[in-house]
Amino acid sequence: MNILLAKHAGYCYGVNRAIKMTLDASEQRGGPIYTLGPLIHNPQVINKLTERGVFPVEDIHEVEGGSIIIVRCHGIDPKVILEAKNRGLRVIDATCPYVRKVQNKASLLVKEGYFLVILGERGHPEINGIVACAAGEHIVLESADEVNNLPRRRKVGLVVQTTQSQSNLVALVSELIKRVEELRVYNTICNATMLRQRSALELANKTDLMLVVGGKNSANTTRLAEICRGVNVHTLHVETAEEIEERFFQEVGTLGITAGASTPDWIIEEIVQKIKVISSEAPELKHGRAL
Ligand code: SF4
Repeated sequence: MNILLAKHAGYCYGVNRAIKMTLDASEQRGGPIYTLGPLIHNPQVINKLTERGVFPVEDIHEVEGGSIIIVRCHGIDPKVILEAKNRGLRVIDATCPYVRKVQNKASLLVKEGYFLVILGERGHPEINGIVACAAGEHIVLESADEVNNLPRRRKVGLVVQTTQSQSNLVALVSELIKRVEELRVYNTICNATMLRQRSALELANKTDLMLVVGGKNSANTTRLAEICRGVNVHTLHVETAEEIEERFFQEVGTLGITAGASTPDWIIEEIVQKIKVISSEAPELKHGRAL
Protein backbone atom coordinates (compact mmCIF):
# COMPACT_ATOMS: atom_id res chain seq x y z
CA MET A 1 0.00 0.00 0.00
CA ASN A 2 1.31 3.44 -0.94
CA ILE A 3 0.77 6.19 1.56
CA LEU A 4 0.59 9.76 0.38
CA LEU A 5 0.70 12.58 2.89
CA ALA A 6 -0.90 15.90 1.98
CA LYS A 7 1.62 18.63 1.18
CA HIS A 8 -0.17 20.98 3.57
CA ALA A 9 -1.54 19.29 6.69
CA GLY A 10 -1.55 19.84 10.43
CA TYR A 11 -0.85 22.91 12.57
CA CYS A 12 -1.32 26.27 10.89
CA TYR A 13 0.33 29.58 11.72
CA GLY A 14 -2.49 30.75 14.03
CA VAL A 15 -2.55 27.54 16.08
CA ASN A 16 1.25 27.40 16.40
CA ARG A 17 1.24 31.02 17.53
CA ALA A 18 -1.52 30.48 20.12
CA ILE A 19 0.21 27.40 21.55
CA LYS A 20 3.55 29.20 21.78
CA MET A 21 1.97 32.23 23.48
CA THR A 22 0.24 29.90 25.95
CA LEU A 23 3.30 27.80 26.77
CA ASP A 24 5.47 30.92 27.15
CA ALA A 25 2.91 32.42 29.55
CA SER A 26 2.67 29.16 31.49
CA GLU A 27 6.45 28.95 31.83
CA GLN A 28 6.74 32.56 33.00
CA ARG A 29 3.90 32.13 35.47
CA GLY A 30 5.21 28.87 36.88
CA GLY A 31 1.67 28.01 38.05
CA PRO A 32 -1.77 27.40 36.58
CA ILE A 33 -3.04 29.59 33.75
CA TYR A 34 -6.40 29.50 31.97
CA THR A 35 -7.79 29.56 28.45
CA LEU A 36 -11.24 30.89 27.69
CA GLY A 37 -12.67 27.74 26.13
CA PRO A 38 -10.38 24.95 24.88
CA LEU A 39 -7.35 26.60 23.23
CA ILE A 40 -7.85 24.59 20.02
CA HIS A 41 -10.37 21.99 18.90
CA ASN A 42 -8.20 18.98 19.59
CA PRO A 43 -8.97 17.02 22.79
CA GLN A 44 -5.56 15.25 22.89
CA VAL A 45 -3.66 18.56 22.80
CA ILE A 46 -5.97 20.00 25.46
CA ASN A 47 -5.17 17.01 27.72
CA LYS A 48 -1.44 17.62 27.27
CA LEU A 49 -1.86 21.33 28.02
CA THR A 50 -3.85 20.49 31.17
CA GLU A 51 -0.95 18.28 32.34
CA ARG A 52 1.27 21.36 31.96
CA GLY A 53 -1.05 23.52 34.08
CA VAL A 54 -3.11 25.16 31.31
CA PHE A 55 -6.80 24.79 32.15
CA PRO A 56 -9.77 25.63 29.94
CA VAL A 57 -12.60 27.58 31.62
CA GLU A 58 -15.94 28.55 30.10
CA ASP A 59 -16.35 31.85 31.92
CA ILE A 60 -14.01 34.54 33.24
CA HIS A 61 -15.86 34.39 36.59
CA GLU A 62 -14.39 30.92 37.19
CA VAL A 63 -10.94 32.50 37.54
CA GLU A 64 -9.50 34.48 40.47
CA GLY A 65 -8.27 38.07 40.01
CA GLY A 66 -4.57 38.27 39.09
CA SER A 67 -4.73 35.07 36.99
CA ILE A 68 -3.59 34.84 33.38
CA ILE A 69 -6.33 34.11 30.87
CA ILE A 70 -5.68 33.35 27.21
CA VAL A 71 -8.07 34.31 24.41
CA ARG A 72 -7.84 31.50 21.86
CA CYS A 73 -7.24 31.88 18.11
CA HIS A 74 -11.01 31.94 17.37
CA GLY A 75 -11.27 35.38 18.98
CA ILE A 76 -13.96 36.63 21.34
CA ASP A 77 -16.40 39.44 22.12
CA PRO A 78 -14.24 42.52 22.97
CA LYS A 79 -16.59 43.25 25.90
CA VAL A 80 -15.46 40.00 27.56
CA ILE A 81 -11.81 41.10 27.30
CA LEU A 82 -12.70 44.44 28.86
CA GLU A 83 -14.62 42.78 31.67
CA ALA A 84 -11.75 40.36 32.34
CA LYS A 85 -9.31 43.27 32.59
CA ASN A 86 -11.69 45.12 34.91
CA ARG A 87 -11.76 42.03 37.14
CA GLY A 88 -7.97 42.22 37.43
CA LEU A 89 -7.16 39.33 35.09
CA ARG A 90 -4.10 39.48 32.85
CA VAL A 91 -5.43 38.86 29.35
CA ILE A 92 -3.19 37.40 26.63
CA ASP A 93 -4.98 37.74 23.32
CA ALA A 94 -4.02 34.90 20.95
CA THR A 95 -6.73 35.72 18.41
CA CYS A 96 -5.34 34.66 15.03
CA PRO A 97 -4.51 37.71 12.87
CA TYR A 98 -6.60 36.17 10.05
CA VAL A 99 -9.62 35.95 12.34
CA ARG A 100 -8.96 39.55 13.40
CA LYS A 101 -9.11 40.51 9.72
CA VAL A 102 -12.62 39.00 9.41
CA GLN A 103 -13.72 40.85 12.57
CA ASN A 104 -12.40 44.14 11.15
CA LYS A 105 -14.03 43.65 7.73
CA ALA A 106 -17.36 42.76 9.36
CA SER A 107 -17.21 45.87 11.52
CA LEU A 108 -16.28 48.02 8.49
CA LEU A 109 -19.26 46.70 6.50
CA VAL A 110 -21.66 47.52 9.34
CA LYS A 111 -20.19 51.02 9.71
CA GLU A 112 -20.59 51.62 5.98
CA GLY A 113 -24.28 50.73 6.11
CA TYR A 114 -24.22 47.20 4.71
CA PHE A 115 -26.45 44.47 6.07
CA LEU A 116 -23.88 41.92 7.21
CA VAL A 117 -24.01 38.32 6.02
CA ILE A 118 -21.56 35.90 7.64
CA LEU A 119 -21.07 32.55 5.94
CA GLY A 120 -20.15 30.08 8.67
CA GLU A 121 -21.31 27.73 11.40
CA ARG A 122 -23.87 29.25 13.74
CA GLY A 123 -22.65 29.04 17.33
CA HIS A 124 -18.99 28.47 16.42
CA PRO A 125 -16.78 30.64 18.68
CA GLU A 126 -15.18 32.38 15.69
CA ILE A 127 -18.62 33.37 14.39
CA ASN A 128 -19.74 34.57 17.85
CA GLY A 129 -16.64 36.78 18.03
CA ILE A 130 -17.22 38.21 14.54
CA VAL A 131 -20.87 38.98 15.36
CA ALA A 132 -19.84 40.72 18.60
CA CYS A 133 -17.14 42.80 16.88
CA ALA A 134 -19.45 43.82 14.03
CA ALA A 135 -22.14 44.96 16.51
CA GLY A 136 -24.80 45.54 13.87
CA GLU A 137 -27.61 44.08 11.78
CA HIS A 138 -26.52 40.68 10.52
CA ILE A 139 -27.43 37.12 9.63
CA VAL A 140 -25.32 33.96 9.79
CA LEU A 141 -25.89 31.60 6.86
CA GLU A 142 -24.43 28.11 6.85
CA SER A 143 -24.83 27.59 3.11
CA ALA A 144 -26.46 28.93 -0.04
CA ASP A 145 -29.50 26.75 0.79
CA GLU A 146 -30.39 29.22 3.55
CA VAL A 147 -30.35 32.30 1.33
CA ASN A 148 -34.15 32.67 1.55
CA ASN A 149 -33.72 33.63 5.23
CA LEU A 150 -32.04 36.85 4.14
CA PRO A 151 -34.30 39.84 4.81
CA ARG A 152 -34.87 42.29 1.94
CA ARG A 153 -31.92 44.68 1.88
CA ARG A 154 -30.45 46.93 -0.80
CA LYS A 155 -26.82 46.82 0.38
CA VAL A 156 -25.37 43.51 1.57
CA GLY A 157 -21.81 42.83 2.72
CA LEU A 158 -20.43 39.31 3.05
CA VAL A 159 -17.57 37.91 5.14
CA VAL A 160 -16.66 34.25 5.52
CA GLN A 161 -15.54 32.08 8.44
CA THR A 162 -11.80 31.46 7.93
CA THR A 163 -12.30 27.69 7.64
CA GLN A 164 -15.10 27.64 5.06
CA SER A 165 -14.65 26.01 1.68
CA GLN A 166 -14.35 28.12 -1.42
CA SER A 167 -17.16 26.19 -3.11
CA ASN A 168 -19.60 27.21 -0.31
CA LEU A 169 -18.56 30.83 -0.79
CA VAL A 170 -18.99 30.71 -4.57
CA ALA A 171 -22.43 29.07 -4.22
CA LEU A 172 -23.62 31.73 -1.76
CA VAL A 173 -22.28 34.66 -3.80
CA SER A 174 -24.05 33.41 -6.92
CA GLU A 175 -27.36 33.31 -5.00
CA LEU A 176 -26.88 36.67 -3.28
CA ILE A 177 -26.04 38.48 -6.49
CA LYS A 178 -29.51 37.61 -7.83
CA ARG A 179 -31.23 39.19 -4.82
CA VAL A 180 -29.48 42.41 -3.88
CA GLU A 181 -28.72 45.69 -5.60
CA GLU A 182 -25.27 46.11 -4.09
CA LEU A 183 -23.07 43.28 -2.86
CA ARG A 184 -19.62 43.68 -1.32
CA VAL A 185 -17.71 40.44 -0.69
CA TYR A 186 -14.60 39.92 1.40
CA ASN A 187 -13.14 36.48 0.84
CA THR A 188 -11.80 35.95 4.35
CA ILE A 189 -11.08 32.23 4.06
CA CYS A 190 -7.52 32.03 5.38
CA ASN A 191 -4.61 30.91 3.25
CA ALA A 192 -3.76 27.97 5.55
CA THR A 193 -7.31 26.66 5.10
CA MET A 194 -7.19 27.05 1.32
CA LEU A 195 -3.82 25.26 1.08
CA ARG A 196 -5.04 22.38 3.27
CA GLN A 197 -8.27 22.06 1.28
CA ARG A 198 -6.46 22.14 -2.07
CA SER A 199 -3.90 19.52 -0.96
CA ALA A 200 -6.65 17.28 0.42
CA LEU A 201 -8.62 17.51 -2.82
CA GLU A 202 -5.52 16.77 -4.88
CA LEU A 203 -4.87 13.61 -2.82
CA ALA A 204 -8.51 12.52 -2.73
CA ASN A 205 -8.54 12.44 -6.52
CA LYS A 206 -5.80 9.82 -6.64
CA THR A 207 -6.36 7.59 -3.62
CA ASP A 208 -8.67 4.72 -2.66
CA LEU A 209 -9.06 5.86 0.94
CA MET A 210 -8.57 9.21 2.68
CA LEU A 211 -7.79 9.43 6.38
CA VAL A 212 -8.56 12.88 7.74
CA VAL A 213 -6.91 13.35 11.12
CA GLY A 214 -8.12 15.83 13.71
CA GLY A 215 -10.60 16.72 16.44
CA LYS A 216 -14.18 15.61 15.76
CA ASN A 217 -15.11 19.08 17.09
CA SER A 218 -12.77 20.86 14.66
CA ALA A 219 -14.58 22.84 11.94
CA ASN A 220 -11.64 22.89 9.55
CA THR A 221 -10.97 19.13 9.91
CA THR A 222 -14.63 18.31 9.34
CA ARG A 223 -14.55 20.50 6.23
CA LEU A 224 -11.52 18.57 4.89
CA ALA A 225 -13.46 15.32 5.29
CA GLU A 226 -16.47 16.84 3.48
CA ILE A 227 -14.24 17.97 0.61
CA CYS A 228 -12.78 14.46 0.23
CA ARG A 229 -16.23 12.85 0.34
CA GLY A 230 -17.33 15.38 -2.28
CA VAL A 231 -15.17 13.58 -4.87
CA ASN A 232 -16.63 10.22 -3.84
CA VAL A 233 -13.52 8.80 -2.24
CA HIS A 234 -14.07 6.67 0.85
CA THR A 235 -13.11 8.99 3.73
CA LEU A 236 -12.60 8.35 7.44
CA HIS A 237 -12.27 11.13 10.02
CA VAL A 238 -10.16 9.89 12.94
CA GLU A 239 -8.79 11.63 16.02
CA THR A 240 -6.16 9.20 17.27
CA ALA A 241 -4.19 6.06 16.40
CA GLU A 242 -6.49 4.01 18.68
CA GLU A 243 -9.24 4.33 16.08
CA ILE A 244 -7.14 2.78 13.29
CA GLU A 245 -8.21 -0.76 12.38
CA GLU A 246 -6.66 -3.23 9.96
CA ARG A 247 -9.96 -3.71 8.09
CA PHE A 248 -9.82 -0.07 6.89
CA PHE A 249 -6.99 -0.92 4.51
CA GLN A 250 -8.30 -4.08 2.86
CA GLU A 251 -8.12 -3.64 -0.91
CA VAL A 252 -6.63 -0.17 -0.55
CA GLY A 253 -3.84 0.40 -3.07
CA THR A 254 -3.18 4.03 -2.21
CA LEU A 255 -3.98 5.71 1.07
CA GLY A 256 -4.05 9.48 1.45
CA ILE A 257 -3.57 11.19 4.81
CA THR A 258 -4.39 14.77 5.64
CA ALA A 259 -4.93 16.62 8.91
CA GLY A 260 -6.74 19.72 10.11
CA ALA A 261 -5.05 22.93 11.20
CA SER A 262 -5.39 21.96 14.87
CA THR A 263 -3.77 18.52 14.54
CA PRO A 264 -0.21 18.21 15.88
CA ASP A 265 2.47 16.28 13.98
CA TRP A 266 2.83 13.76 16.82
CA ILE A 267 -0.75 12.51 16.30
CA ILE A 268 -0.18 12.17 12.53
CA GLU A 269 3.07 10.32 13.27
CA GLU A 270 1.39 7.92 15.73
CA ILE A 271 -1.22 7.10 13.09
CA VAL A 272 1.41 6.46 10.40
CA GLN A 273 3.35 4.22 12.81
CA LYS A 274 0.19 2.24 13.64
CA ILE A 275 -0.51 1.75 9.93
CA LYS A 276 3.09 0.58 9.46
CA VAL A 277 2.61 -2.00 12.19
CA ILE A 278 -0.68 -3.36 10.87
CA SER A 279 0.25 -3.38 7.19
CA SER A 280 2.82 -6.06 6.37
CA GLU A 281 5.13 -3.84 4.38
CA ALA A 282 6.70 -0.60 5.55
CA PRO A 283 4.71 2.04 3.71
CA GLU A 284 6.47 4.46 1.45
CA LEU A 285 5.73 8.05 2.43
CA LYS A 286 5.67 10.38 -0.49
CA HIS A 287 4.69 13.93 -1.09
CA GLY A 288 4.98 15.36 2.38
CA ARG A 289 7.37 16.87 4.78
CA ALA A 290 9.32 14.72 7.19
CA LEU A 291 7.23 13.79 10.18
S1 SF4 B 1 -6.94 28.13 10.25
FE1 SF4 B 1 -6.30 30.15 9.51
S2 SF4 B 1 -7.55 31.58 10.67
FE2 SF4 B 1 -7.67 29.64 11.76
S3 SF4 B 1 -6.04 29.76 13.27
FE3 SF4 B 1 -5.16 28.78 11.46
S4 SF4 B 1 -4.21 30.46 10.30
FE4 SF4 B 1 -5.64 31.36 11.77
